Amino acid sequence: MKKSIKVMLLPNNKQKTKLFQYANTARFAYNWAIAREQEKYKNGNKFISDNDLRKEFTELKKTEEYQWLNNISNNVTKQAIKDACNTYKRFFKGQCKYPKFKNRKKSIPSFYQDNIKIKFSNTHVKVEGFSESKKQNKQKINWIKLAEKKRIPTNCKYTNPRITFDGLNWWISVGIEYENSNVIPTNQGVGIDLGIKDLAICSDGNTYKNINKTSIIKKLKRKERRLQRSISRKYIQNKKGEKYCKTSNNIKSEKELLKIKKRLTNIRHNYLHQTTTEIINRKPMFIVLEDLAVMNMMKNKHLSKAIQEQCLYEFYRQIQYKSEWNNIKFIEADRYFPSSKTCSECGYINKNLKLSDRIYICPECGNKIDRDYQASLNLEKYGENVLKSIA
Ligand SMILES: [Zn+2]
Repeated sequence: MKKSIKVMLLPNNKQKTKLFQYANTARFAYNWAIAREQEKYKNGNKFISDNDLRKEFTELKKTEEYQWLNNISNNVTKQAIKDACNTYKRFFKGQCKYPKFKNRKKSIPSFYQDNIKIKFSNTHVKVEGFSESKKQNKQKINWIKLAEKKRIPTNCKYTNPRITFDGLNWWISVGIEYENSNVIPTNQGVGIDLGIKDLAICSDGNTYKNINKTSIIKKLKRKERRLQRSISRKYIQNKKGEKYCKTSNNIKSEKELLKIKKRLTNIRHNYLHQTTTEIINRKPMFIVLEDLAVMNMMKNKHLSKAIQEQCLYEFYRQIQYKSEWNNIKFIEADRYFPSSKTCSECGYINKNLKLSDRIYICPECGNKIDRDYQASLNLEKYGENVLKSIA
């Protein structure tokens, strides 16, 4: 089982400069490779293999104009060329659009590290080639501090280490191979109803509230709106003819806005991880979720924003992969399964139930129950039936 871990970096100023240099060089190599492929493609030839391109690139490094390329670790450019060739291959297979150049302003600065040479200590990661000197105090620059201690295991096999910049901070992501657990959970299965009022209602009686209704989020969102308005106002004030001019204050507030936005996503995603991990840690035999298309159908103007803020897709994704890690059966209910319209006591289907009816009252047996909780009970039953039909 492969897990991918992402940890924030805490580089010092010298390291920051190096990081941007590396990312810029990776972009240069990527664009150079795309340009070479384009030339070939326009002349009617097919594809230059990444091996040939790399040889060509090594020759390029020997010329005076491109000598600066030698300051950057070989693996960075090697992988960038490989990435470019891979997008080209995908294009030929019809899997993506015609490859574009990476724009300095629009693309995300990132580069690759060699998965064999990369090293982690409990607190630092070793990046290749920041300093060539063997002296110990010079070697220090190669070790970048990690924001989380002991999050990434030391001394194991790493795959595809990448370092990226998100506009505020640098991050390292790396794949790690874990042994598969063979413990099969035996606790009662659980059905989960996802919604707007609450994030998740579980059939075992646990409810997880909608984080967007808490005061921290509301406060941040107010701040975001205010800043957004003031920024767009200043854009218009500073407009010179057709051109927008950004003052240093503009840039400052833009960064501030980006920070608030990141903070909001962080709080939301952190909450999702806490919730999904808690559900998984109760070790149910199976988990049933509604078909996601059902959530889509609920999409009207007012709800779609609320759904987007709840990040239900992300919830779904997390439950899915965390179930797989823990040998929990993940079941997706059929999209026509009437989870909220069915009475959990007698099975009567109330077709007249409206979205505004929060309490379900069964006309057949008089059962009175919270609508969302009942939906989760129905989903749990659905899961039981699925498992019975397999066995
Ligand atoms: Zn009933």
